[in-house]
Formats: sequence, structure tokens, C-alpha cells
Amino acid sequence: MIFDAHIHTDFSSDSKMLLTDAMMRAKECGIGLITTEHMDLLYPKHDQLIFDVDDYFATYNQYRSNHLLLGIELGMRTECVTENYAIVKKDRFDYVLGSIHMVEGIDIYYDFFYENRTKAQTYASYFETMAKCVKEYKFIDALGHIDYIARYAKYEDTEIYYHEFQDFIDEVLKKTIANDIVLELNTRRLGERSVVNALTPIYKRYYELGGRLVIIGSDAHTQQAIGSNFAIAKEFLEQCQLQLIYFKNRSPEYMVEK
Ligand SMILES: [Zn+2]
Ligand SMILES: [Zn+2]
Repeated sequence: MIFDAHIHTDFSSDSKMLLTDAMMRAKECGIGLITTEHMDLLYPKHDQLIFDVDDYFATYNQYRSNHLLLGIELGMRTECVTENYAIVKKDRFDYVLGSIHMVEGIDIYYDFFYENRTKAQTYASYFETMAKCVKEYKFIDALGHIDYIARYAKYEDTEIYYHEFQDFIDEVLKKTIANDIVLELNTRRLGERSVVNALTPIYKRYYELGGRLVIIGSDAHTQQAIGSNFAIAKEFLEQCQLQLIYFKNRSPEYMVEK
């Protein structure tokens, strides 16, 4: 089965999607789901982007099946590695996704992160933070949306070009592979050809450096976004010779079309 391995239901403070609605949509699409609720420890706004893990399992365990798996998206920061490890170490989750949402203590969604700084400066800081975190978060299963900054940066062209940030990206990819962490292909931005073109050399480089496995996810916060651009993603991964997998009980499983 193909899985959308990155979705947010209303356990994430930025999503109102009900799990049952997400499941209905997934059934229509003929795909499975892995929920990945936001856990961004030390987030500056109190009570945002965190959730009660016990409540999560108590509420969702009844829906758990071979096609509905329960995961978490950890917002990685170097200041709270131990605390994040404590959350996931009990192995109750099927899947642990690690992502960079904050750089230098700032949510990079906000404009002021980019104020008075060039793209070269902010992107360097973003990739350095990512490399550091991937090195320290050895316990995550996959690295989320390597292109996250391109969604929100305040430059005329926000795209990540491999040749511009080669050394930084190589560092991230090498550490990812060295720690047996799988690279996610976040499908949210894949609808545009220019995005596919920019991401191709990054994923080809991942292969060149020894990476073989990729997990895909839409990062859906709404029912409609579930499974978005999956056909493009599958073609993309074939071109890069990468193998699609998902995680169940923290172990990789091959994704195969039914
Ligand atoms: Zn994320
Ligand atoms: Zn997400």
C-alpha cells in the first residue's frame, strides 16, 4: 500500500482536520495514512505545536490498523534533544519524523527571520541547523521537508538550488545517511515543475552519497491536501532510482502499489 506519511489532524494546534475525515479521504484515494502531529518543544508561544501523547494514543488507538499508523513530527532543536528522545523512546509510535521549523530560536515561517539578511545567510543558517540536528537526533526515522524554508522565505526566488548550497546540503545528506535516517520527499510543493527541477539534483545527490530509501508525505492540514502530488512524487523517485518505504512499529516497510 502507498502511504501518506505526513499529515496533521486536530492534535496539531495548526490543524482542524478530524482523523475520521482524513481516513475517509485516504480511503477514497486508496492510500494509507501515518499521522505526524506537531511536537515543537520550546516553541515560544505557550501551548502551541505540542500535544498530550497519552491522550493521543488513548484517542487514536481504536483507529490503528495496517493502513492507519500513528507517528509524530518532532520540531528539532539542539536545545532539547534529550527531552525529545524521552517522548519517543517508549516505542509507542510507528514513525518519528524530525523536522526543522525553527532556526536560531525563530520560527522561520515569520518575516522577521529574513529581515536585513540575504538568502545566502539565512539558508546557510538553516542548513547548518539541520545538519547539527540530524547529527544529534540519531533516533528519528526520517528527515522532514528539506525544502521547508522555500515555502516561507521572503526573497524573490525562494527555491533551493543544489549548486548554490552544495556544501551545506552535502553535509545534511551525509549525516542523514550516516545515521540511517531516511529522507522524506514532502509532496506539498511538487505541483510546480520548477520545484521538481530544483529538488532533482538534491535527491540524485542523496543517491550518489549512498541514500536509497525515501518516504513521502503531503503535510496535509486539510482533507483535500491528503495524497497531493503523489503521482509526480512516484515518477520523481523512479528517476532518482530511490525506493519508497514507510515505517510501522519504527521499522521500514516497502511501499508497493496494490
Ligand atoms: Zn513540518
Ligand atoms: Zn508537518
